[in-house]
Amino acid sequence: MKVPFVSLKPLEKTIDKELRNAFDRVYGRSWYIEGEEDTAFEKAFAEYCDCKYAVGVGNGLDALMLALKALNIGPGDEVIVPSNTYIATALAVTYVGADVVFVEPDIRTFNINPALIEEKITDKTKAIMPVHLYGQACDMDPIVEIARKHGLYIIEDCAQAHGSTYKGKRIGSFSDIAGFSFYPGKNLGAFGDAGAVTTNNKEYADKVRALGNYGSDYKYHHIYKGHNSRLDEFQAAILSAKLPSLDEVNKNRRAAARKYLEGISNPKVILPYVLEDVEPVWHIFGIRCKERAALEKHLNDRGIGTNKHYPIPMHLQECYKDLGFKKGDFPIAEEISETELSIPMYYGMTDEEINYVIDAINSFE
Ligand SMILES: *Cc1c(COP(=O)(O)O)cnc(C)c1O
Repeated sequence: MKVPFVSLKPLEKTIDKELRNAFDRVYGRSWYIEGEEDTAFEKAFAEYCDCKYAVGVGNGLDALMLALKALNIGPGDEVIVPSNTYIATALAVTYVGADVVFVEPDIRTFNINPALIEEKITDKTKAIMPVHLYGQACDMDPIVEIARKHGLYIIEDCAQAHGSTYKGKRIGSFSDIAGFSFYPGKNLGAFGDAGAVTTNNKEYADKVRALGNYGSDYKYHHIYKGHNSRLDEFQAAILSAKLPSLDEVNKNRRAAARKYLEGISNPKVILPYVLEDVEPVWHIFGIRCKERAALEKHLNDRGIGTNKHYPIPMHLQECYKDLGFKKGDFPIAEEISETELSIPMYYGMTDEEINYVIDAINSFE
């Protein structure tokens, strides 16, 4: 039996007609950028996130970068980011000319540890960027409290957690601005690169929209030296076709995760921990194992796809050599990078496939 790490096919088969209609609608109009699909998706997505505004942009990295720019964060400023995340979070900060300040995660949840944030705050700190990693919302109450106390912005990186909730409230609604990615493999994915920001602040929404459209507020009038980062009509139409099934997709992933959590009983494997106040959407199901390489081979030999999120922590990446960090500086991020193994997780996994993965993990000696 073969179980891929991820497959988009089950969902695409389920909503095949809606997806083809979306494509035909756009092609029929021959209108591809800044049109009614973008407007309609933004409205629907803002509603989904319990936010007033959503602005479509080119990808998730741009969403974060434009969010930082909209808050006037730049050279001389510091932004707190988790030491365990995908590199896009840190790169967005670097792109606007600000400095990244890493904070270690809680090893149980993989997410930023709020108890370690305050010691990293300086006169230069402008914002905290919590990342709801692997589909699990961060512990937001203490983060919001720290931000309020020190007058800092919060920018949520929601790229992996569309629809996850904290105390019943959707992520993307806890911050000044939040960034989403619709990379095809994300819980809500386009047929190419796409992203969005959400916010309750009209000024920020307008600024992100202008910044992503050459800094233009109206045609051929440029108030910022902006970028070209827009959500195109095909991607918006595909996302509108998929959004109505997002809750079902997340529910299906939660059911698979529950089976993993109940079924995996190998003492060599540490299962992910979910905070009481959080409903995760399981973008990634990450287990930990001291003998990761052997476990990975064991699973791959049995036709099971795996991945590692992420094998090299950011402070040890070559591109961040200039920050001068060395091995040992962020031991928890390093521990995760050395032991985390992501197992198959996607909408439409069959019970047979899930049980096959569980049995394979339990048979690892
Ligand atoms: C995917 C991802 C991004 C970037 O999204 P792109 O659309 O690929 O630019 C940012 N942050 C995190 C945590 C991600 O997983």
